[in-house]
Amino acid sequence: MPEKPKVAFYWCASCGGCEEAVVDLAEDILKVVEAVDIVLWPVAMDFKREDIEARPDKSITVSFINGAIRTSEQEEWARLLRKKSAFVISFGACANSGGIPALANQSAREDILKYVYEDCPGVENPAKSRPSTAHAEEGRALTLPEFRGMVRALDEVIDVDYYLPGCPPTPKLIQGAVGALLAGNLPPKGTVLSPDVALCDQCKRKDSKPADLSIKEFKRPHQVQIDPEKCMLAQGLLCMGPATRAGCEALCPGGNMPCTGCFGPTSRVRDHGAKFISSVFSNLAAREPGEIDAALDGVPDPVGTFYRYGLAKSLLRRKITAGEGK
Ligand code: SF4
Ligand code: SF4
Repeated sequence: MPEKPKVAFYWCASCGGCEEAVVDLAEDILKVVEAVDIVLWPVAMDFKREDIEARPDKSITVSFINGAIRTSEQEEWARLLRKKSAFVISFGACANSGGIPALANQSAREDILKYVYEDCPGVENPAKSRPSTAHAEEGRALTLPEFRGMVRALDEVIDVDYYLPGCPPTPKLIQGAVGALLAGNLPPKGTVLSPDVALCDQCKRKDSKPADLSIKEFKRPHQVQIDPEKCMLAQGLLCMGPATRAGCEALCPGGNMPCTGCFGPTSRVRDHGAKFISSVFSNLAAREPGEIDAALDGVPDPVGTFYRYGLAKSLLRRKITAGEGK
């Protein structure tokens, strides 16, 4: 009997939602398990790093890696899996472009550590002690990963073959990727495995989106009763559909919530947030400074709104302070 393809799943700086997405394949996961040998899946199975280190290089058919890279351990695992795998798929928004963890790039490393270990309400740490990478106590030695100066996307650390977008990727996209790999029916290296068109193309509300939106004010979903039929941008809600790649079948607009941009941009866009800002603010009805300020008051967290998933890969990338290391 021919050997089954070997598959690894790994998580770096991740919420675990991408792992849930694999489980969400429901009964189809059994087809995957039948067709492949899973050689690593820390969330579900007990494999050790030594098991992977002992494998010949390129002997894993494909590694699906989700989560961004923040610590030395995450970088080591990404490099190890790259060495041992024929293909690496960057799985989900955090791996693809930093995702939610990369919002921490708005703060310098020292500021994060100071807040978490000293200033955060509820922290009792008069010695102002911090975790160190090496610690010895009562004859026992403990090593911890290094907390790096910034959050990076997976392809800023290792070479990546394909990208599955989404927060998390949908079961349909995951099935499509696994099916293409098993059939050897692979697109060119570097392809994002999702249609390269804007989400508005897949949205049932698109016919109600006027050519000139003339937005007077921005509203947040909890502040209004959202009309379930009408384009959300036309209702003053910041829906990132015009600047975001399709492939989720407009799940969020279908559920009466604006798109927050988790599929990232299409291939023609360099900076996802900047593209959306330029598109939406050119549709602002306000012309006078006072009116513009009033409209901007409706966007209390611009970075969290426009760069929620892509700060690490944006032109802004991170906050830098004098003396801050890598
Ligand atoms: S892409 Fe979304 S679901 Fe996946 S790890 Fe990041 S935050 Fe969680
Ligand atoms: S802006 Fe949002 S609600 Fe409007 S058509 Fe595009 S995806 Fe749909």
